[in-house]
Amino acid sequence: MRAAYEGRTLYTCLNCNKLLQYEEHNKQPRRSHDCDASDLTLNTGEARNLIQIICATDIPGLAPICEMCSSELLEGMEGQLNRLDDECNDLRQLIEALEKMHNSTDPTTVKKRLASLQLEERELRDELRKLADEDRLSEFELQKAREERDNVSMRQEKLWENFRDIHRKLLDNDEVSRRLEAEKRYASEQLHRLSTKSAIDLAFHIWTDGPIATINGFRLGKLPDINVDWNEINAAWGQAALLLDVLLQRLKVEPSMFKLVCMGAHSYIKECRPSGSGREIPLYSSGGWRPFSGQTHSADEGAAAFVDILATLASNLVHLNRTLPHTIRKETLIDNGMQYSVKVQFNNEERWTKAMKCLLSNLKTALVHINSLKEQNPQPE
Ligand SMILES: [Zn+2]
Repeated sequence: MRAAYEGRTLYTCLNCNKLLQYEEHNKQPRRSHDCDASDLTLNTGEARNLIQIICATDIPGLAPICEMCSSELLEGMEGQLNRLDDECNDLRQLIEALEKMHNSTDPTTVKKRLASLQLEERELRDELRKLADEDRLSEFELQKAREERDNVSMRQEKLWENFRDIHRKLLDNDEVSRRLEAEKRYASEQLHRLSTKSAIDLAFHIWTDGPIATINGFRLGKLPDINVDWNEINAAWGQAALLLDVLLQRLKVEPSMFKLVCMGAHSYIKECRPSGSGREIPLYSSGGWRPFSGQTHSADEGAAAFVDILATLASNLVHLNRTLPHTIRKETLIDNGMQYSVKVQFNNEERWTKAMKCLLSNLKTALVHINSLKEQNPQPE
């Protein structure tokens, strides 16, 4: 900074603003291109390149710096110069080392080598581009493969669901099949059991163990303490006539004198005569029960005819080496040497009932014999 003081001009250091001792006579005329000192004073104390200011001036008065700042500046410049010298030495050593290392290298060879390397670089870049293209293509194909895999997974899941459904149905069908197989086995067993039984056995059930013999639940007999009405006895006669008729057909026997006409509780026996006209002999009775009073009973003749037909069956069985338990003699059946008449007339209830039991017993035995003959020589029923 410049200021007038007692006819002298005062300057301050540009760096530290310290007041400088400056003699005016040392001042030399300014050249036209010198920088304006007023500019310097204006910029005093501001951050300005000190070296630049100094270099741009011709005389110290235009760049006033105190001695201390000048010394520090010189030391700094000297240090910088030394560092530059060191750096220059390092670079020189490096150049020498490189020259030693490559002193035998021919520049032409190096240029060729460089061209070769550049060519190789171009080839490698081309290859890199190709590899990049292949990489993009591979990425595209990989994406497609992933989509395909997802589709396959979905199809697989659906197929698994189908498989589970079908498997469940298979198990259900298997269970149904097993159930049907069990039913078939049961039906086969039933069929076998039934095939071993005779239809006549199943159709006619004769029970002779009680006081009065029964056929299919109808009692054929009467005792003083067990009253049986005629309707039941007629029904029993009807069942017995039907069974006898079936047994005759099984043995293919045709009685010469009589023919059974089975009509349930109103069955009768038709007398066969050469003229063709025969009487109808009833196997049933009606009206009040006049037990064994000596009067003729309407069913007595029918019972005698029935026994006659049964005797014909028995004689045919004898030819087949089969006998009945109770011998038949006229209208009587013999049990333990005693004869029991099937007629009510001149008879009593117990004896008549015993005769009926013998008659049904013979029928039952005849049934067993004819079944056994059928098993030996089976014929379709
Ligand atoms: Zn200073």
